[in-house]
Amino acid sequence: MEAGEFYSLKEKFDAAGVTLVAVSKTKSAAEVQKLYDLGQRDFGENYVQELADKQAQLPDDIRWHFIGHLQRNKVKYIAPFVHMIQSVDSPRLLHEIDKQAAKHERRIDVLLQMHIADEATKFGFDAGELAALLPDLDQYRHVHVRGLMGMATFTDDQQKVEKEFRFLKKMLDQYRSSAGAHWDTLSMGMSADFDMAIKNGSTMVRIGSLLFGAREYPQG
Ligand SMILES: *Cc1c(COP(=O)(O)O)cnc(C)c1O
Repeated sequence: MEAGEFYSLKEKFDAAGVTLVAVSKTKSAAEVQKLYDLGQRDFGENYVQELADKQAQLPDDIRWHFIGHLQRNKVKYIAPFVHMIQSVDSPRLLHEIDKQAAKHERRIDVLLQMHIADEATKFGFDAGELAALLPDLDQYRHVHVRGLMGMATFTDDQQKVEKEFRFLKKMLDQYRSSAGAHWDTLSMGMSADFDMAIKNGSTMVRIGSLLFGAREYPQG
């Protein structure tokens, strides 16, 4: 994306109070650096090794968001530096993040990933599992749950996508009050559906291909 295009997109998100996470999976450190030089600081990655490699090469003030499926035995590699883990999809993963964050005397921001799409391959909690987890959240001293993340079904059916985003927003509103807490983040919207997501209450969009061009090989 050209600098001018990037700035006008960024302006639009800023005006709406929406945080832009630039999803850089499969893209080189040089490509990340280019966007960094335009002022972008929040970047999202799906793979632990790839994230660790880039983090080592790139400026320290980048806020790295982990957005892919995370295996528990790999949490330790990103715990020292990760800014936010958006893809918490099980209580056991939450427990492991808490444990690793404690080792580094950190409190790591996380989002709970909700399963809102039709596709069986997408990870996440359903409404019942979320409700069951909430009373336990206080026990985790080294994670800070900031809200919810979800991915809509990959479809041209706009009504369906909207319905899924509305459902996610409703869950956030419902549990924000009972969790009492600092649930200020609703991460929804990607290259194809961010307008719809923002219209329905998104506070954080995760955008890859629109910024960096199509990915060379299909992943995550
Ligand atoms: C890859 C990915 C994105 C970005 O997708 P684009 O369609 O390229 O914008 C956003 N969120 C998650 C969880 C992803 O895996």
